[in-house]
This record gives sequence, C-alpha cells and structure tokens, in this order.
Amino acid sequence: MPEQKEQALPRNEFENAARLAAKAMDQAHRHQSPPRPHAYEVWYTYVAGDDPVLRARVDSELIKSDQVGVEIIEQIYEEHFLHKRLSDGMTRIGDELDAGLRDTISVVRDSLGASQLFLGSLRQAQGKVAKVSRNHDAKQVVADLLELGQAHAASTELVNTELTKARSQVVELQSELRRLRNSAYLDHLTQIPNRRHMDEVLEREIRLASENGLALSFVLGDLDHFKEVNDSYGHAVGDAVLKHFAGLIRNNIKGQDTAARYGGEEFAIILPRTSVYGAGHLTDKIRELFHGTDFILSRDRSSIGRISVSFGVTQLVPGESMEDLVSRADGLLYRAKKLGRNRVESDM
Ligand code: GH3
Ligand code: MG
Ligand code: MG
Repeated sequence: MPEQKEQALPRNEFENAARLAAKAMDQAHRHQSPPRPHAYEVWYTYVAGDDPVLRARVDSELIKSDQVGVEIIEQIYEEHFLHKRLSDGMTRIGDELDAGLRDTISVVRDSLGASQLFLGSLRQAQGKVAKVSRNHDAKQVVADLLELGQAHAASTELVNTELTKARSQVVELQSELRRLRNSAYLDHLTQIPNRRHMDEVLEREIRLASENGLALSFVLGDLDHFKEVNDSYGHAVGDAVLKHFAGLIRNNIKGQDTAARYGGEEFAIILPRTSVYGAGHLTDKIRELFHGTDFILSRDRSSIGRISVSFGVTQLVPGESMEDLVSRADGLLYRAKKLGRNRVESDM
C-alpha cells in the first residue's frame, strides 16, 4: 500500500473542513444523491458557500423542488466543474505555451546578438585581410564566410519575427478565453453582472431573506433622457456614460450587495439585509454623485452637461415573488420619471 503523506492543517481549518464534509454528506443523503464523487463535490461546494454561481444554481433548483434529482446534480456538475476545468485547463496550457515561446524568443534573440558580433568580427577580418594579403583565395574565403554569416543572421531574424507573431497570437487567444469565460455572467460593456446573473442572485437572496426573516431591498434605476445623449454626442459617448455609471454604483455598494445591468440604460441593485430606508439613502447618494459628474468630451474637452438618473426603491414583502418585487420597483421608477426625473421614489 502506498505510504500516506503526512498533512498538517490548523485545527480550526481541519474542524471546519470536517464540519463541511458532514454537511455535504447530509445534503447528499437528504437529496438521495448517489454516493459518487460528483454529487459529493457539488454538495460540498454548495455548503461551503464560497462559490456564489454554484450556490445560486442549486438554490434555483431548490426553489422549484424540495429534492434535487440525480440528473440535475450531474447536469450542474457538468456545467460547473467540467466546463470550468476545461477552460481552466486551456488557460493553463496557454500560459505554458506563452512561457515556452517567451523562453524560445529570448534564446533566438541571444543567438541573433551572437551572429551580429560574429559578423562584425568577420567584417574586421575582411578589412585586415584586404590590407595584408594579396592572396585572392584568402579574400574569397572571408567574403564567403561573411555571406554565410549574413544568410544565417537573416534566417534567425525571420525565426524571431515568426515566434514573436506566434506569441502575440497566444496572448490574444488567452484573453479571448477569459472573455468567453466571463461573458455568461458579466455585461460586456460595463463589466458588471448581467440580467441573467442578477435574476439568479435575486432569486437566492429572496429565498434567504424569507427563510431567515431578514430585510432585502431592491433598486431599479434608469438614466434620464439618455436617448438625447446618444443623439447629440453619439453612441460611443453614451457607452462611456453607461460605463461610468456602472463603476459609480459598484464603488458605492458593499460586498454583500450586487449591482447589475438590467438592460439598455437600466440598472438594478440588490441590497440584502437592508431596509428600504437604508436603500433609499444609499440610492440618493448615488443619484447625487452621478448628477454631480461633469462629463467632458475627449476631442475638445467641452462639457456635455449634467446627466441624471431616476430610481425606484422597494423592500421585499415576506412571501412575495421575485416578479412582484421587481414590478413594484419598476412602478416606483415610473413614478420618479413622472414626477420630474433625477429623483428616488420609494415606498417607505
Ligand atoms: P427616459 O428619461 O424616459 O428614460 O428617456 P430615455 O431617452 O432615457 O429613454 P428611451 O427609452 O427613450 O431611450 C433609451 C436610450 O438608451 C435609447 C437607447 O439607444 C439607449 N441605449 C440603450 N442601450 C444602450 C447602450 O448600450 N449604449 C448606448 N450608447 N445607448 C444605449
Ligand atoms: Mg429605459
Ligand atoms: Mg432612460
């Protein structure tokens, strides 16, 4: 039997891992998952709670049914671990390829440097031979050597160019892979979570708030007269404003909160353990900060003036559905628009 490698873990880490393992087994038992590593991995990751995407995925199944069947567990395992491992593996291979190419390029560059030195010496030798020798053959030998050296340097140069090109392709592929991996959950323009991700998080947070009797607030915001911004300054300027707004929200919320691009020029904020009072206060701060931003055009530094945003803020009523919560926030947002925009309407 192979000898077991001794492992050391701090006591609290060990106890924590043992506790999670017991909880994972408990879940597997409750859902009658087959005693297979896949099911165990899904449940362990779920109870550990440090993977919000998997957590939301399993929670969304738990909303539909009390028991998560074998097929669903396998499906989650495939979606989550297999795809992740595949893309992690591809990223790793790319990193290794990139490192290998970098080393090779540096060897080729050294060799190119050595060739240049060698050619320099040959040219000096050619000059000396021309002065001291009348021997035609000797001159010819040096000239031939010089020609060979030049051909060698030229081909090394070519190899260097090709390798550099190959490396930049690898780097490009790597970033494409990272983009692909994030695109399922992040909005491409603003790099904050997209609607799909928001729906998953909101569903989970509603369940947690209901189960534990905790407050949960939901905010919908819509930029005011945004069509005019596009019409007057172009789509690219509109995009830059959207990016800025997304960044502003992200910088003003805390770790437990989630900001998402809800669609076009609409944004949502999920605020767990926050009452409508707190949510209204935070939202008004974001509104004011955004309206205080002076956007200037890069081409001539002229100002495009102030842009405002309207918000609807509401708190989860115990037992209500996600649709009801979102639709109430939408109604309040509509009221903010009707009442003149650049304001926060809440039902506190
Ligand atoms: P309101 O105050 O009533 O919300 O007026 P509005 O002009 O903001 O509303 P409307 O729905 O008429 O127009 C929304 C505009 O948002 C039109 C659309 O082109 C723009 N928009 C949506 N998504 C994007 C985007 O990704 N980039 C840019 N630049 N504009 C976008
Ligand atoms: Mg809109
Ligand atoms: Mg709008």
